[in-house]
Amino acid sequence: MYPTVELTLPHWVAEVIGDPAQTYATLEARMDLAIRLAARNIEEGGGPFGAGVFDMESGRLVAPGVNRVLSAHCSVAHAEALAIMVAQQACGTFDLSADALPPLELVTSAQPCIQCFGILWWSGVRRVVIGATKEDVEALTGFVEGPLPLDWEGKLASRDPLPAMAVVHGVLRSKAREVLRRYAENGGVIYNSGGKAKV
Ligand SMILES: [Zn+2]
Repeated sequence: MYPTVELTLPHWVAEVIGDPAQTYATLEARMDLAIRLAARNIEEGGGPFGAGVFDMESGRLVAPGVNRVLSAHCSVAHAEALAIMVAQQACGTFDLSADALPPLELVTSAQPCIQCFGILWWSGVRRVVIGATKEDVEALTGFVEGPLPLDWEGKLASRDPLPAMAVVHGVLRSKAREVLRRYAENGGVIYNSGGKAKV
């Protein structure tokens, strides 16, 4: 038999979130949670990335996500991927744009990479909210984000016949950059596959 693939969120995510019934009224409040998840993930030996899927209107957190590439031995276990996969399980559907659901958005401490662009494309979220830029990630840490399509934002904004997906940049960017900088300063592993990560 081959191994079963199982991705879970760390137990400490609940500590970072606190009251699970609280709502996050502003984009800054949603991003602040994503960044706090990223910061704690560093302390726990993970990559410097956090994310969350939120109800755009009520600000309810549907699903958090943190990077688990190292702990899960899984190159696809990015924070955005975890948040979207957990949200889909929480909502009981692969389609986060389903009629029964309110509009949902992904809030991520750093710009999605080439993989997460594809994950977003198929997820059904209506908006992507970004903290640090691709250039921030690559300059501050050495992670490679991959070749995103030219005009990737325009492609998300015009997906006819699929619902459009808006992109919001620069929310708490300085705070998001600080987590990346701290990760690099602390000697965090740069785990680009094919790179120099120890196994
Ligand atoms: Zn990614």
